[in-house]
Amino acid sequence: MANRKKAIFLDRDGTLNHDDGYTYRTEDFKLIEGAIEALKLLQKDYVFFIVTNQSGVGRGLFTIGDVHKFNNKMLKEFKKNGIKIEKIHICPHAPNEDCECRKPSAKFAREAAKEYNIDLKKSWAIGDHPSDVKMGNNAGCRSIYLLTGHGETHSAELKERSAKPDFVCKDIFEAAETILKNI
Ligand SMILES: [Mg+2]
Ligand SMILES: [Zn+2]
Repeated sequence: MANRKKAIFLDRDGTLNHDDGYTYRTEDFKLIEGAIEALKLLQKDYVFFIVTNQSGVGRGLFTIGDVHKFNNKMLKEFKKNGIKIEKIHICPHAPNEDCECRKPSAKFAREAAKEYNIDLKKSWAIGDHPSDVKMGNNAGCRSIYLLTGHGETHSAELKERSAKPDFVCKDIFEAAETILKNI
């Protein structure tokens, strides 16, 4: 199919914003250094989706309304900087709910591909958890594992979970530069 778009599937916590575990209060919203600049670099060639596991909802720690509030604050900040996020896909389920949408499931990426005419082979997944990489693997995208957020702590699990990142980067900005070198 001609003119298919290329996408970046971004994790949220620890990738775009600082994450101290179950981040949901708008007061705690703080972008990771270089996040705006990274997306500015990429937006000529890619459209953006956020795919986020918010099991805190399923665990009863906060509500889906809290998640939307937090997301809206983030979207506002991006908009102010001329950055468009096509859609935020949220899995609100706890792991034991056995849902179909929790990463590493590629359900949301496949839905986005259909809805927005995305070429998954030319798209990327970026995140600070092995399940973000694994989602990319499952969707047939390339993927980048970040060392921000939980990245350092979980990097040993990449192998255990047979998650295969194409690159490991120190943060989202380095990931953006890496993508543009490997387009
Ligand atoms: Mg994360
Ligand atoms: Zn789910």
